[in-house]
Amino acid sequence: MNKDLTGTEALLEELSAKLPDTNAKVMVSPPFVNLANAVQKLKDSEIEVIAQNMHFAENGAYTGEISANMLLNIGINTVIIGHSERRAHFGETDEILAKKVKAALANNMQVMFCFGEELEDRKSGNHFNVVESQLKNALFDLDLTAWPSIILAYEPVWAIGTGETASPEQAQEMHAFIRKTIAEAFDADIAENVSILYGGSVKPGNAEEIFSKPDVDGGLIGGASLVADDFIAIVKAI
Ligand code: PEP
Repeated sequence: MNKDLTGTEALLEELSAKLPDTNAKVMVSPPFVNLANAVQKLKDSEIEVIAQNMHFAENGAYTGEISANMLLNIGINTVIIGHSERRAHFGETDEILAKKVKAALANNMQVMFCFGEELEDRKSGNHFNVVESQLKNALFDLDLTAWPSIILAYEPVWAIGTGETASPEQAQEMHAFIRKTIAEAFDADIAENVSILYGGSVKPGNAEEIFSKPDVDGGLIGGASLVADDFIAIVKAI
């Protein structure tokens, strides 16, 4: 919930002007009310506009909610599902998230699925179990054919917006575990090809080291994405 329309437009203008020539896939995810404008603003840009959330129902009596079709209709083809703030502040359980993932896929949307442990889980050594169960509960009954439409974003909750970052070694260790878990539940090709992003206080100063790890395929950037120069520096790091 950052940036009004004026702020979003100014940021996107600066981002598209400064975007380097890159093979990296760059996406931005403004609040719902700014999405349609963002799509228009970036229509000639390589930057894709994606949504931060959606409801699982097709339509109906869900006041305040936004459906897959509403997003598709304004040119949004990718949606973030399961961000830790949705889980923590809006009661989104694994069960709800599984429904949202299925609804997005049924509408041929791409899903960026977020998950990650809380500080207590890490302190008690339970972080691998927590991550495995988040993946299992929302994704493990998908068809093999769904996986090209899934991007994973591992975001340890203790590192989001806190200035604390998982060390590059902690990120690599968890990303390798995620890949192994997917290989066991599905197959090695799927595990190899799925993009696993790291999120949690990625900044220009630490991006290159985090992205240098073999199982870290990219980043989900919060605070640093609100400042064009910082975000561009992170894109250059990838
Ligand atoms: C986020 O909001 O998902 C996030 C990773 O934020 P930050 O980069 O500020 O930690």
